[in-house]
Amino acid sequence: MSRIGVVSDIHGNLPALEAVLNSLEKSQIERILCCGDIVGYGPWPDPCVRIIRKANLLCVQGNHDAAACERLPFDHFTPSAQLAIRWTTAHISDKDKAYLKELPAIHTEEDFVMVHGSLRGPLWEYICDRWVATENFSLLNRPLAFFGHSHIQGGFVSLEGNVDLLRPRKEPLKLVPEAQYLINPGSVGQPRDGDPRAAYAVVDLLNREVYFKRISYDINMVKKRILQEGLPRDLGDRLSLGR
Ligand code: ZN
Repeated sequence: MSRIGVVSDIHGNLPALEAVLNSLEKSQIERILCCGDIVGYGPWPDPCVRIIRKANLLCVQGNHDAAACERLPFDHFTPSAQLAIRWTTAHISDKDKAYLKELPAIHTEEDFVMVHGSLRGPLWEYICDRWVATENFSLLNRPLAFFGHSHIQGGFVSLEGNVDLLRPRKEPLKLVPEAQYLINPGSVGQPRDGDPRAAYAVVDLLNREVYFKRISYDINMVKKRILQEGLPRDLGDRLSLGR
């Protein structure tokens, strides 16, 4: 297995998920990984879980997934997120809840590790700066880890004791054999890096390349549906801003 798609933080945004999966279908990938948070915030939790299950995506559990299947208390979430999780819990099937409940916190293979937040704190910790990245590199025993949670595409590289931020770029990122990488594909359904387009990544494990990708989808349709379902307006507004 060499070429894989990596997605994260779908958050019940069906048009964004469909746009990404359609695009991945044309990218000659062998399988798709998901770094968690299939649900929460967005108005299509049930269809998103169904698509992920049907397409047999390998997925780890995010904090919103854990809260939606009542495995995690709500109090650490923002007020908008709490409202959305309550709404999500009422709008997903028992089958979805059972699926979300059974997702592992960490998935490890020969070439990589996959987690939602971080290796140190799989559900909650954000890897947003070099200091947290350094702590997590010390726990990484693979060349590569995929993570999500921050909704910021890019990641970190550790080479000869130095840890640096990786920003997404147009040309593929070449993975150096001596280095280790923490790679965030960005968020499919609620990007927070200033680019409202759905984010994902294609990783070529054989040629050691990472392609950071973005794709447009119908944000206005999602905003309309958020209001129709009585979800907080700010959850739609932030989609236009990519924040
Ligand atoms: Zn998330």
